[in-house]
Amino acid sequence: MPPLAIGGESRPLRVAVIGSGPSAFYAAEAVLKAPNLHIRVDMFERLPVPFGLVRFGVAPDHQNIKAVTRVYDKIAADPRLRYHGNVAFGKDLSVGDLRRHFDAVVFAVGSPTDRKLGVPGEDLAGGYPATSFVAWYNSHPDFANEKFDLSCGRACVVGIGNVAMDVTRILVRDPDDLAKTDIADYAVAALKAGRVKEVLLLGRRGPVQSAFSPREIQEIGELSGVDIVVDPRDLELDPASEEELKTDPKARQIVDYLRKKAAEGEGKNEKKVRLKYLSSPVELLGGNGRISAIRIERNTLVRDDTGGIKAKGSGTVETVPVGAVFRSVGYQGVPLPGVPFDAKKGVIANDAGRVVDAATRAPVAGMYVAGWIKRGPTGLIGTNKADSIATVENLLKDAAGKTAEASSDKAPEAVTALLASRKVRVVSFAEWKTLDKAELDAGKAKGKVRDKFFRVPDMLAALGAGAAAKG
Ligand code: NAP
Repeated sequence: MPPLAIGGESRPLRVAVIGSGPSAFYAAEAVLKAPNLHIRVDMFERLPVPFGLVRFGVAPDHQNIKAVTRVYDKIAADPRLRYHGNVAFGKDLSVGDLRRHFDAVVFAVGSPTDRKLGVPGEDLAGGYPATSFVAWYNSHPDFANEKFDLSCGRACVVGIGNVAMDVTRILVRDPDDLAKTDIADYAVAALKAGRVKEVLLLGRRGPVQSAFSPREIQEIGELSGVDIVVDPRDLELDPASEEELKTDPKARQIVDYLRKKAAEGEGKNEKKVRLKYLSSPVELLGGNGRISAIRIERNTLVRDDTGGIKAKGSGTVETVPVGAVFRSVGYQGVPLPGVPFDAKKGVIANDAGRVVDAATRAPVAGMYVAGWIKRGPTGLIGTNKADSIATVENLLKDAAGKTAEASSDKAPEAVTALLASRKVRVVSFAEWKTLDKAELDAGKAKGKVRDKFFRVPDMLAALGAGAAAKG
C-alpha cells in the first residue's frame, strides 16, 4: 500500500495539545482552522476540569475576564477535537506514547510554580509564594490544603505586577463581597478570621517601572474602606525615568494616578495599601520561627548594559514589622519528563515554538510549545492567541507535504484504548459540563457565582463510575 498523505481524508493530521488553558485552546483553534486539511486534535489536561489559569489564576472578583471560557467552549464543541481531562502527561502518557499516536504535540502547560527572592529568611513560616495564595483562593486541588496565617496586622507583598495587585485586593477587600464570587468558601472563612489591615507593597524600581496595569491600581483605590498611600518623595523621578515616561502612556496614567493619591494624604480608612518604591527586601526576620519583620534596602536607579533601567542597592536599610510576606515576583516553568528544558529561561527549549535540543539547539521533530512555557510568564490572556497561532504556523509548515505508512497506532481509538488499559479515568468535555452545572447550581443555592470543586475525588465522585469518551 503506498504511503498516505498526512492531512488527507484517509490519514488526518493528528495533533495532541497538552494543557487546557488559554494557550492550549488557542493552539487547538489555530490547528482546526488550517484550510484544506483533515485534522484531529486531542487535548490532554492533568485535572478533570479545564481552562488552566482562567479558572485557577484569574481573580474571583474578575468574573468578566473569566467569560473568555465561552470562546473555549466553542472550540471544544468542534467534533474534530476531543478533550481528555484527568490525564497527566508524564504519568498517564509519555513522550513515547504521544509520538506513537500523534504527528505533532503542542505543550501548553503554563508555568506552574513561582520564582524565589533568594534572600535569607524566605522559608520562614509566614513567607508565601503569591502564586500559591492565588491557586488556594481559586480552589486549585493541589493548593486547597495550604494554610495562610492572616492573623497579622501588616502583610507585605513583594513585586508590583498584576498578580501582586490581585493578592493585595483579595487581602483588603471586604470578604462578604468576595463570598458572592466563585472564591473558595475556606478562603472567605480565613480572610474573615484574618486581621490584615495594611498591605505594604514593595517595588524594587520606581513608579514609571510599575508592572501593574493602570486599571488594577485604580480598582484598589476604588475599594470601600481602603486607602492607597504613597510617599510623594517616591514619585520624584530620576532623569532616566522622566525620559521613559514621555514614551509610555501606561506609566503616565499610573504616575498621574499615584500623584493624585499622594496629594490626598493618608486618608481616614482603616485599611491601607502602602506602596513603597525603590525598595528591595534583603532579609526576612523571624521571631518564634515565623516572620516578624522585613529588612528593606533603599535602591537607586541606574542604566544597565542594554539601556534599560535597573535597581541598585544604596546601602540604606530599614526594618519594618510584618507578619506575612507574599513574594509576587513571577511564575516559573518546570521541566516535563522527556522534553528539553531551558533552565536559564525557565521554559521548554524552543525556537519560535519549535522544541529544540537544549544544548545543540537542533529541532526536535514533531514537538512544539505555546504560551508561558514557550516565552515565559508574561502577557495577558489575549497575548496567548497570537503566540499560539505563531507556533501552529510552524507546525503546519513542518507537516506540509508529509506522508506516512498506514498505521493502526494513528487511529483515534488507539490512544483511548491505551488510557483504558492503564485504567485512567478520563473525563470528557461533556462530563466537565456536568461538573460545571453542578458548580453553578451549588453556587446559586449559596448566593454566589459558582461553588467550585476543590478535590479531584469529589469531582470524580460527582460524575459516578462510568468513563465517557467522545469519538
Ligand atoms: P510581572 O508582571 O512580571 O511582575 C513581576 C514583578 O516582580 C515586577 O514588579 C518585578 O519588578 C518584580 N520582581 C521580579 N523579581 C524581583 C525581585 N527579585 N525583587 C523584587 N521585585 C522583583 O509578573 P506577575 O505579576 O506574576 O504577572 C504575570 C503576568 O500575568 C503579567 O503579564 C500580568 O500582567 C499578567 N496578569 C494579569 C492580570 C490582569 O490582567 N488582571 C492579573 C494577573 C496577572 P521589575 O519590573 O523590576 O522586574
